[in-house]
Amino acid sequence: MEFTEKETVMNAVQESVPCADRGGEVADNYILLKFSLYKYIGCCPGPESPIRWDSQTHQGEKDFWVDLAGIKQMPSAYRSRCRRSFSDYLSTTNVPEDQHALAIQMLLELVDEAVNPDLPINVEIFDVTVHNRRRTIPATRESIEGLERVRLDLLEEDGETCAICWGVYDQLVTRLPCSHYFHGECICGWLQINHVCPMCRFAMPTEELPST
Ligand SMILES: [Zn+2]
Ligand SMILES: [Zn+2]
Repeated sequence: MEFTEKETVMNAVQESVPCADRGGEVADNYILLKFSLYKYIGCCPGPESPIRWDSQTHQGEKDFWVDLAGIKQMPSAYRSRCRRSFSDYLSTTNVPEDQHALAIQMLLELVDEAVNPDLPINVEIFDVTVHNRRRTIPATRESIEGLERVRLDLLEEDGETCAICWGVYDQLVTRLPCSHYFHGECICGWLQINHVCPMCRFAMPTEELPST
């Protein structure tokens, strides 16, 4: 059994070292915004295993030289033009469209804080794909809905905090067949993702057979 997760991660920082080559024509007050694109493909052999990266490739980059004082002015036609150029560029990448506004916002916040135009701002965009070999299997809805609700003061074992959230119990707790109990909300949320008891790995019924 395998399923695939895709994610785009953006990372932007202002460097602490001036860029080596500003190019002949670039005015002193211009700052370099350097976009780099990477594609990462990895696999995750199990829910708790670290990701093993099978390939990490540099897909391309794009330089934007912008007038630092100009872009900082808001509102200004220059700032809007820059915004549009970034957005046009992002459209040619794998960054999903609904993330463009946030990505540009993040970048502009850095630009607004930047003082020294000699220090470039690096924007790294990672297009991440992870193939999961094994995943957690939820418990069936019937088994979750059928869980026993018990009054805390009627329980023999004492335990005042829920092992999932570490919060203190109210009057009612929800008990699994293995007799471990939790907040109702906590254990129901857990079992919708993973069918085993968080304390002893007692297996609740599942729709499908666990794969190995
Ligand atoms: Zn809880
Ligand atoms: Zn248990």
